Amino acid sequence: MKTSVISLGAGAVCFLALQVFAGDSAFPSGASGSPVPPKVRVLVAEDEKFFRLSVQGAYVIQSLPSLQALKKGSGLENVPLTVTKKGLKLGDAEWPVSRLRIETKGKRDLVLNHTRFRGEVEIVRANEHSLAAVNHVDLEDYLYGVLPHEVAFWWPMEALKAQAIAARTYALYQMRVNHRNLFDLKSSTSSQVYKGTRRERHRTNRAVDETRGRVLTYEGKIFPAYFHATCAGITTGAQELWKMEISPLGGGVRCGYCRISPHYYWKAAVPLSEIEEKLKLYRVPLGRILRIEPVSQTPSGRVGSLRFVGTLREDVIAAKDFRIWVGGNRIRSTAFTVKVREDAAQIDGKGWGHGVGLCQWGALGQALAGRAHEDILRFYYPGAEIRDES
Ligand SMILES: [Zn+2]
Repeated sequence: MKTSVISLGAGAVCFLALQVFAGDSAFPSGASGSPVPPKVRVLVAEDEKFFRLSVQGAYVIQSLPSLQALKKGSGLENVPLTVTKKGLKLGDAEWPVSRLRIETKGKRDLVLNHTRFRGEVEIVRANEHSLAAVNHVDLEDYLYGVLPHEVAFWWPMEALKAQAIAARTYALYQMRVNHRNLFDLKSSTSSQVYKGTRRERHRTNRAVDETRGRVLTYEGKIFPAYFHATCAGITTGAQELWKMEISPLGGGVRCGYCRISPHYYWKAAVPLSEIEEKLKLYRVPLGRILRIEPVSQTPSGRVGSLRFVGTLREDVIAAKDFRIWVGGNRIRSTAFTVKVREDAAQIDGKGWGHGVGLCQWGALGQALAGRAHEDILRFYYPGAEIRDES
């Protein structure tokens, strides 16, 4: 299976290639004998000039990868953490380091730019103008912070559990393929949305707890269990988008359950002047656009490529690229028709997201119809098994 095309980490700066030494904790761990849960590393901020850091209670700041203690103390209140020519600066203290780790004793004691995080935060100096932050957090705690952003906390428990297992599987897969990089996942829709503890809810936490350690496998292996908002009738095969052939992500699952989705149908009007600018930027200038027409279809019936006919020349472009250029929240899927009317491309579409794997609104429809989360997962990931990893 080839996975190098997955966009995780795309656009991140050169420090990505650094090997990370997953370090020992600066605080002694409990002697309970229970297995240590895996930690996931989530890029929670990038291209920042400074952070504001607050800590309640005891903390330790270490340089990385040496683990040399730079500062120990108790309590910080909105202290600026900035990048300098030589290194990093917290309040008045400056250190010639490019990476440091802030560790606290409690589980929710660290606040970075008004967002509260469990676990530890690593600060990375990308260059003399730019900082990034990576939250190292227990996988199950991370899922508490993902679920309420990916689904509504009031959805039926079976839909929430299906989402928890899919999100856990996806995260574990990314942890395995990215273990030599500086982070495993981004905190946006390019991975899974995560914003620390900000929107944690009792019901979504319960869905995580009640499925603790449960993952999807195919032929005994974890796979990237993609999901999306609404497939609008049929799921996409991963191979339609990426160089990835894996049976549970093969697409073609007919889903009538997401008809309840508010994203089932959508419309967008994109000014031709904007499209002309994008073509100039990413391809070649076509002049004034006269027509836009689909030239190929994917096996799941979505638009494969589009021909743009301009006054100077014409060009054929993959619909998935066109969607990215204009923005995935405006062109919500590649299941659409398009007509040039006056000075805009009028687009009528169906569904939201890439369409691969679990359809979130379809999972809701199935849960409302009384189906269990195991059945929902087997429906969207045909051939997959549910296994206990803990
Ligand atoms: Zn669906």
